Amino acid sequence: MAFPLPPGSTIGILGGGQLGRMLALAAARLGLDVVVLTPDEGSPASRVVKRTLVAAYDDQPALAALAEACDVVTYEFENVPAATVQVLNALGVETAPGKLALAVAQDRVAEKTFLNEAGAPTVAFAPVDGAADIDAALPRIGLPALLKTRREGYDGKGQAWIRDAAGARAAFEAVGGAPSILEARADFKRELSIIAARGRDGQTAFYPLSENVHEGGVLRTTFAPAAVEPALQSEAERIAGEVLTRLDYVGVMGIELFDLGTGVLLVNEIAPRVHNTGHWTQDGCEVDQFEQHIRAVAGWPLGDTTPAVSVEMTNLLGEEILGWADLARDPEARLHVYGKGEPRPGRKMGHVNRVKRL
Ligand code: AMP
Repeated sequence: MAFPLPPGSTIGILGGGQLGRMLALAAARLGLDVVVLTPDEGSPASRVVKRTLVAAYDDQPALAALAEACDVVTYEFENVPAATVQVLNALGVETAPGKLALAVAQDRVAEKTFLNEAGAPTVAFAPVDGAADIDAALPRIGLPALLKTRREGYDGKGQAWIRDAAGARAAFEAVGGAPSILEARADFKRELSIIAARGRDGQTAFYPLSENVHEGGVLRTTFAPAAVEPALQSEAERIAGEVLTRLDYVGVMGIELFDLGTGVLLVNEIAPRVHNTGHWTQDGCEVDQFEQHIRAVAGWPLGDTTPAVSVEMTNLLGEEILGWADLARDPEARLHVYGKGEPRPGRKMGHVNRVKRL
């Protein structure tokens, strides 16, 4: 495939959630069509794309149809099976980001090992296959420590704090006895993230750091640009640049960081996709994270990441979406609604960007 893909080309997206939807809207603005593959009927993305293939990610005929229809394929979540990417590549269609980024992001031990090798600091950690591994690692990791499954998909059973040495067995049971990682507690002052991008020519672009506030494990609000010293922004860009280059990455990545308040940033995790903490860029920057990702994947030059305004992004969870009419009346609120059906508790239904002139 010859890059840059001209308008009229087709991008495949694995996954049909709100991230896929906002990617598709950005693609449409550049004259690029989108075909989505998702197991879910009536997904948010399917309402705005040219075509949707409703099938499992390992459905061979669906993957063949996707490969046939698309010039390149990307994804909106990191737990796409590695075999799916292999099948698509064997069918002659390129995926971006590539296999290496997926493999690293899917396994917390591989991720932290890679990050440390790349000069990106993380908390101390140890792989865990049984409670005895926790006992062996605790003297080095210290207490309290956090046990997390190496891989996602555990329906809230994924993490357990260990407060004393006697708690190892209970914690391992709490994560379902799955292969895990034991992490030292990060004594952070605040949580930050950086949205970074790398193009097909190796060009990189970085958005300003954002500060993120979580509630009950779910992102509630993002403030951007975060109030940080220029040196901290430079350190975040150094880390992001190393990560993107070593993965030979193409696309947008979200990197979650712990700010220790001492000038040190620890990487919590990397997301090889557009990221909830980058939604502020839609109303804050010349080119937002969604267009940036599409530009990178399609081999276009990366766009300007300079913020024109400051933005407070708030997720609309569950029934909060029912307040849309009031939000629509507020001149400072830019409303983004995902087109999901049932406003179940905690479900991300939309977000609102409140914009202030810098
Ligand atoms: P994660 O699932 O790794 O993104 O973690 C979810 C949240 O748990 C993070 O945003 C932090 O607030 C918290 N957290 C994760 N890992 C640690 C850690 N090692 N120390 C302290 N807090 C953590």
